[in-house]
Formats: sequence, C-alpha cells, structure tokens
Amino acid sequence: MAQPELAGRLLDVIEQDILPLTEKGVAAGNKVFGAAILNKSDLSLVLAETNNETENPLWHGEVHTLKRFYEMAQKPDTRDLIFLSTHEPCSMCLSAITWAGFDNFYYFFSHEDSRDSFSIPHDLKILKEVFLLEPGGYAQNNAFWTSSSIAALAKDLDEATQQRLAVQDARIRDRYQRLSDSYQSGKNDNAIPLN
Ligand SMILES: [Zn+2]
Repeated sequence: MAQPELAGRLLDVIEQDILPLTEKGVAAGNKVFGAAILNKSDLSLVLAETNNETENPLWHGEVHTLKRFYEMAQKPDTRDLIFLSTHEPCSMCLSAITWAGFDNFYYFFSHEDSRDSFSIPHDLKILKEVFLLEPGGYAQNNAFWTSSSIAALAKDLDEATQQRLAVQDARIRDRYQRLSDSYQSGKNDNAIPLN
C-alpha cells in the first residue's frame, strides 16, 4: 500500500471510527486512548475500540481492542493486519501487540505528548522505573515489529498531501484536547489506579 494512502487512511480511522467511541468512553470516565485494527490488503477496518479502564485497569485502548478482536468469531491472521494506536503504546500494550503476533504498529501522539499534552506521565514513568529506560529508549524497530508515528509516515509525501494531512492533524488534536480537558476535570472521581 502506498504510504500517502496509509497516512491519510490512519487519520481517517482515528477521526471517524475511534474518536466517536472515545467521546463516549471519556464521558463514562475513561481515558482518551483508542486503537484500531485494519487489513493490510485494502486498509479496511476490522475493528476500533477505546480505553475502558473503569471496567478493568488493563483495558487500555490497545488491550481492549485486542480483547474484542479475540472475541470475534472470524478473524484474520494478525500477520495480515495493521495495528493503529492513537497514542504511542505503553510497555503493557507494546508487549500485548507483540504477543498477539502483529509485525507493525502506528501511532498519532508520542509518549512525550501523553505526558506533556495529556498529563498522563505513566507510560514514560513505567519505562524509567521498571525498565530503566529514558524516553525513546525502546527499540522502535526490532525482530518482532516495525513501528512509526503517523507524522513520520507523512513527512516524505508531496506538499499538497502534507498540507491536507496537516489540516486533518490539527482537527484531530483539537478534539483530543477537549477530551483531555474533560477527562482531567473528572478523573478524581474514578477508581482507576494510575489515573
Ligand atoms: Zn497501554
């Protein structure tokens, strides 16, 4: 699949498939993180999900998506699938994606964004406290998978496409900012251990 198509398609899935679920999830007290699974062959959506930590603190967007995936009666081989995470996966989700057999994942926001723009420092703090890793200290490409931010995918595209994606990027960031404000203002009322 051509990279221009991939970057734009991943943004579309965030905007059209994940964000509506996350808006409901945040209204119910959950965090802003979401994920989706797409077919490599035609970039069609297999499923999208969102964080559901109010039910179980392990239901991060990614793990909750994988849970739903394994509940499907008919499912493709994970080698034929793309994993999309709205935010760079935490150490649990990095491992979950690996154990599920994906050879890739893409994300929109970085760990630093989660800490600085979303006031969620836990991803980087766990990497540091448990694994002694500084930010950026895990292998983004390794024997199991290749990972990339959507921004990195988009950076070699032609200027017109980049401009179109930048407009969409800004629109997505605005929606997440509102969701983050909503989550942060209500989080003292939830029972999520690392809120
Ligand atoms: Zn996670």
